[in-house]
Amino acid sequence: MKKKIIIVGIDGGTFLLIDRFINDGRLPFFKFLKENSLYSDMYSVDQNTRVPISPTIWTSLASGKKAEKHKILSFFNLQQDIVSARWFEILNHYGYSVGTFGWELTWPPEEYGGFTIPCSMARDNRTFPSYLSPIMELRGKKKRKFLSNVLLFFKLKRIGVDSLTLVQLVLNTIFERFYDKKIKLFKRLILLNRLNLSLFLNLVKKYKTEISFFFIPIADSSSHYFWKYSDKENFPEVSDIERKKYKELLLKSYIEIDESLKKIYDKNKDSVLFIISDHGMKPIREGSFKTLSLKQKSFLDKTNLNKKVEIYFVGLNSVIVVKDDSSVDPDSLLQFFKNIIIKPIDEKFFEVVEKDNSGRIFLKVTQFDKGKFQEKDLTNLKVLIGTDYYDFKSLVDINDIERSSDHDERGIFIIFDKNLKRKGKIEDSTIYDFLPTLLDFLSLPIAKDFDGKSLIESSQKSFIDTYDFLVKRKKESIDKDDEFVKEELRRLGYLKDK
Ligand SMILES: [Zn+2]
Repeated sequence: MKKKIIIVGIDGGTFLLIDRFINDGRLPFFKFLKENSLYSDMYSVDQNTRVPISPTIWTSLASGKKAEKHKILSFFNLQQDIVSARWFEILNHYGYSVGTFGWELTWPPEEYGGFTIPCSMARDNRTFPSYLSPIMELRGKKKRKFLSNVLLFFKLKRIGVDSLTLVQLVLNTIFERFYDKKIKLFKRLILLNRLNLSLFLNLVKKYKTEISFFFIPIADSSSHYFWKYSDKENFPEVSDIERKKYKELLLKSYIEIDESLKKIYDKNKDSVLFIISDHGMKPIREGSFKTLSLKQKSFLDKTNLNKKVEIYFVGLNSVIVVKDDSSVDPDSLLQFFKNIIIKPIDEKFFEVVEKDNSGRIFLKVTQFDKGKFQEKDLTNLKVLIGTDYYDFKSLVDINDIERSSDHDERGIFIIFDKNLKRKGKIEDSTIYDFLPTLLDFLSLPIAKDFDGKSLIESSQKSFIDTYDFLVKRKKESIDKDDEFVKEELRRLGYLKDK
């Protein structure tokens, strides 16, 4: 009989918190897993890069290869750009039925013998099979409209979301107006996870998929926004009132993950669990800080670039694409941006001004954490653009949900199998090891062009040169600057609300 595996992806999962909460007696299933599994602080990639790079990392996990090989280098790459075979293609090639729920870059959805629910960065609501598309309607909703549509409740019920979860959702839409911004965000994260999980469990049962994947995003978001309230050592400046109010949010997010894993295991006891994360999280030790983002429209007006460039946010970076017919030279533009100065302190207005090889320019306003100025100084600062002075505040927005945690290189990797002889910690694992390990576990050949290795000691390993012959998707033409992607980045807090 074929082995059955459920892979759970925990965005931003870290043993730093898991161990702390286990010690407090709060994560019983993680405790059980650590005592009965192979586990590792899986090394991801350097996290000090210019743009958020989730699609890059998830594609490395999926393909066992570094970004230079698989060619996914930014948030704006699409599935069609991938030149390496991924685990779902490979396993389906060997006859396994595969269901994925939320793996990055699985849009447009393809069939691997089960179901495919694309990740939240998808550009429309397509799913495989298509009747599941209501689950995608939850993503990218403007905050006001979040689930205001009663029809959606019935659609979700019909595709297999359980009633209890839907009742929680109804109650939340009624009561969330009484919550503050942080509690509201937290409740939405939790509810969305429950909704997804409910449908996922239903789909695994219905399609009897042999290899299934479920994505949990809450560890990443909760760490970014709530870390400081439960970490007095690194964040002594947080007031007692705030600490009391938000202290449990990070812990509760991990409890939600713990319970989700337990539920998955309880309903699929014949399955092996693989748990992975794309990176870990760590406190930003310089102290939590507000961030500054460019008022893009105002900036384009003042620089007369309005009709000549397109501009969008990726994280705090503004990305500028010079229009083909604008006759603007990107290199001169780059120099122009570099010369913009804050007066009277004579510091650079942009801490990042860079051009990538496709000619896109990345700009990041100099942040508070650089120590050049503080929030109270802003009213007295001017920005010198060319020969004109402008108020600093007319060019930047202050983002008021502070981040007190950021990505760390070490994520998690857990393999739980009752029959596995070896247990305990494995040192030196990387994201490139996930796929070779998965294949080895299923006694399938490991490709020689992988950048990772199997972490399990199997009796006989077999090899193949490459799996890339399995990549055969056609290019679909996509509108650039897609609103769906921007909407999702906005939801994740990478973009500001308009
Ligand atoms: Zn993140």
